Amino acid sequence: MVIDSHTHIRAGNDDIGAFINGMDEAGVDMAVVSPIAPAELGFMDNEYMARLVKQYPDRLIGYASVHPSDEHAVDQLRRAVEDYGLKGLKLHPPIQNISMLDPRLGPIIETCIRYDIPILVHTGPVYSRESRMIFSNSVDIDELAIRYPDAKLIIAHGHPFGIDPVMVAKHENVYIDTTSTTSEYLTMFPQLDQMLYDWMRRDDRILFGSDSNQNHPERFASDLKPLRAMRISDESKEKLFSGNIKRLLHMD
Ligand SMILES: [Zn+2]
Repeated sequence: MVIDSHTHIRAGNDDIGAFINGMDEAGVDMAVVSPIAPAELGFMDNEYMARLVKQYPDRLIGYASVHPSDEHAVDQLRRAVEDYGLKGLKLHPPIQNISMLDPRLGPIIETCIRYDIPILVHTGPVYSRESRMIFSNSVDIDELAIRYPDAKLIIAHGHPFGIDPVMVAKHENVYIDTTSTTSEYLTMFPQLDQMLYDWMRRDDRILFGSDSNQNHPERFASDLKPLRAMRISDESKEKLFSGNIKRLLHMD
């Protein structure tokens, strides 16, 4: 089974069929889809995710997003989990223009801990000029993991050669997703597969992701291909492609 832990739906294109087709063509059974609050950013909202998951309950898992500057953020998150059945929280600090260490995130993170839902945090590159990359520094996750040892934090777009794997090794509550970066490096340096995977340290906390959306459904296949080719054990692949995210989302 393959579960993609990191995808989006972009505003302005209702062709969800292209997204599902991309999953089918790549052999992806289920995908975690995230909005980014507020909806004006172009990545939909919690209500949309709830409707979408209802439409494709066997194929999609929805996350929620809230913005800490919204005084109703905690209520919105509670509704997203309890009423809409959303299973995690997406944070995109550079696009949302917030620091991961903003104290207003505290009650939101505490709510995630209470519901035992993971927090998928964007790190690394952003290409829109107005997005502040000072807010996508993955080192901030180290601080978050110390402040909130019970929060389940996922380093999105984890950098396999940098210090991100160190944070996974250091903190039991930190996970890393392979989205874009790991697949890109494996494509450039396929011979490093085993070393790279070992450097990522904790094979029970690595998650496959592709950042696919309905405008780029080909990413399902292109991100999967170099990961599937890795010369690692079948057991490690099972964890990477589905086992770890299933455990994180209590799907077993
Ligand atoms: Zn994302």
